Amino acid sequence: MLFGRRTKNPIQLPVKAVDKWVYTTCGYCSTGCSLDVGLDDKGAAITTRGVADADVNRGKLCLKGIYEFEVFRSLNRGRVPLIRKTRSDPFTETTWDETLNKTASEIQRIQGLYGRDSFAIVSTGQIYTEEFYTLGKLVRAVIGTNNYDGNTTLCMASAVSGYKRSFGSDGPPGCYDDFDQTNCLLAIGSNLPEQHPIIYYRLKEAYDRRHFPIIVVDPRVTLFAQMADIHLPVKPGTDLVLLNALAHVILTEGLADQNYIQAHTSGFEDFKKLVEAYNPEMAEKICGIPAKMIRKVARIYAEAGAAMTIWTMGINQSTHGSDGVVAINNLNLITGNIGKPGGTSLSITGQCNAMGTREFSSCSGLPGYRTLEKEEDRQFMADYWGVEASFFPQKRGMAETDIFPAIERGEIKGLWLIATNPMTSMPDTARIRKSFEQLEFLVVQDAYSDVETNEYAHVFFPASLWGEKEGVFTNTERRVNLVRKVMDPPGEAKPDLWIFTEMAKRFERGKEMTFSTTATEVFEEIKTLSKGRLCDYSEMSHDKIEKQRGIQWPCNTEHPKGNRRLYETGVFQHADGRAKLIPLPFVDNNECPDKEYPFWLNSGRLVEQWHTRTKTGKIGNLNKFSPTPFMEMNPRAAAKLGIAAMDYVRVHSRRDSAVVLVQLTERVAPDAVFIPMHYFNCINRLALGLLDPYSRQPAYKQSAVRIECLEDQEAAARENVAMRNY
Ligand code: SF4
Repeated sequence: MLFGRRTKNPIQLPVKAVDKWVYTTCGYCSTGCSLDVGLDDKGAAITTRGVADADVNRGKLCLKGIYEFEVFRSLNRGRVPLIRKTRSDPFTETTWDETLNKTASEIQRIQGLYGRDSFAIVSTGQIYTEEFYTLGKLVRAVIGTNNYDGNTTLCMASAVSGYKRSFGSDGPPGCYDDFDQTNCLLAIGSNLPEQHPIIYYRLKEAYDRRHFPIIVVDPRVTLFAQMADIHLPVKPGTDLVLLNALAHVILTEGLADQNYIQAHTSGFEDFKKLVEAYNPEMAEKICGIPAKMIRKVARIYAEAGAAMTIWTMGINQSTHGSDGVVAINNLNLITGNIGKPGGTSLSITGQCNAMGTREFSSCSGLPGYRTLEKEEDRQFMADYWGVEASFFPQKRGMAETDIFPAIERGEIKGLWLIATNPMTSMPDTARIRKSFEQLEFLVVQDAYSDVETNEYAHVFFPASLWGEKEGVFTNTERRVNLVRKVMDPPGEAKPDLWIFTEMAKRFERGKEMTFSTTATEVFEEIKTLSKGRLCDYSEMSHDKIEKQRGIQWPCNTEHPKGNRRLYETGVFQHADGRAKLIPLPFVDNNECPDKEYPFWLNSGRLVEQWHTRTKTGKIGNLNKFSPTPFMEMNPRAAAKLGIAAMDYVRVHSRRDSAVVLVQLTERVAPDAVFIPMHYFNCINRLALGLLDPYSRQPAYKQSAVRIECLEDQEAAARENVAMRNY
């Protein structure tokens, strides 16, 4: 294959001899790209390509997808179950029987001594929906702890909570096709080109065809902000004020869709009264966006005919993340922009199957968006699983972010972590470390034995990776995609589904129940349970999903090929069928910069890295782009402190400090710095992570820090390298 001018030093890539292509779906982000993994004649994965006729990615992949075949040969995979008596002992290799028996007996011991909820379970957004469903069945019907959550609380809990408050149910109402139909796109706290490159590609395709206005709200001049028609550099943590002010202009200037409001919403009068106070002049003083610009944007949005809002962590990871999502929904309800082509509130989800855990894991309730709070839902699931309804709690237990403080308080004594890495992902690392040290028993289930949290484990379960088993993921636009098995897991590593069903056999209650053991059998259970629900899978099958390159729920007899949008008829999931307009007063409870800590600390993703780098940190073609923890800093602010480009500096917060390499850029304001989220022992040592009261999601993006220049740059470099983790 040749690139460049053929006559002058062309780059030549070796042609790879692919013997067989296996269809699957990318295992990183929630875009849901279909890809083929190419195997050579010995069965080794040697390349990856985008699937041309898949509607999501149309043959494209981002960097992570392009190099995804390399994960199959990445270092430090868990191959054998490990066990040790105490954390100070070395691990010894053992059998599955010994580790499963030990874990089951520790769960029973701890629950017997301290009560059922004293053993907690935290999972992920990375395993398949069939596995989530089976884990939920194990936790809710067999083990019976109510302190069960997913790490999705760190990324999507505010979106879930906001959808529930506004529409009566979780479930993103829109789709990527809305980019082709919209006349205005508002993006808040989303750096789409780096976070979700292929969703950005879909948007850019639509934008290049029909230049509709793109408005990006972000304190940082991100890549997305650089291509926007309007960039609103909002002060960190004040998006709610901006959204209330947009609603204020729309209502006072008579731009609202009164017919839609009257026919499909409730709560209008209270909402109107609240936003009356948020005139653009008042909002300007708080959020920093000129009143004139607020009016301009409100008019563009309301007069577009079809307008949509997308968002990611800039909204969700905030002390008022849930309110931010509700405010977006308010904006779209008063302009009649829900359930119509190009008019929607579309949360751009994080992990490849964060949606699957929301639908069927039972973390926050029961499968199929059923809730623990409703007696009929508890009874229905009890009958289906053949257990007594009284075994279920009557409301959900702790979120992940409440589980760690409960460990500190001594209320939780044992923990099972599944494909999640709180030592790197949770805010205030020092507190998390202390929590782990207090546990009587920790089991870590992961594809990699070097995941940082394993340092504190008593038992390690080596799990299969994406592509070493079969199952489905749901993407951002509610599209269920199929992951075919590409190859066997290494050594004795096992699929998560196998681990859950084997664990069930070690409990008396589990022995009395039936657990399906293959993904297709579990999928049949999910289909049955979903029939008639909002997330209806009843007309899907694994083969049909592959043939269609993904199917968007609901997929039932009315929509046998799936359906692009929710709420097209204006009927919502609240008991009265209406969406709620909710008044949202702004309360500024963030940690803000002051004299001692004068900079805002912001965080986010890099295109070439994934979460805590457990996978991408080991893939040379990804890791070489950004191998070391760095910080973006404004050159004017740096000059004042005598800091030059590529200096190492120490960043201090009230919690801890970290050494980073300085990159000077006008992308960040003079009163702010930005550090990528991926590095071990770096930004989350500094972050305060105050919690949203509804979603319990941490405010990773709003902490205050100061910068210290370092004389001894060589020592600083050594300290910085120690934070790389790979
Ligand atoms: Fe994978 Fe997301 Fe990249 Fe698509 S955009 S290839 S799903 S990481």
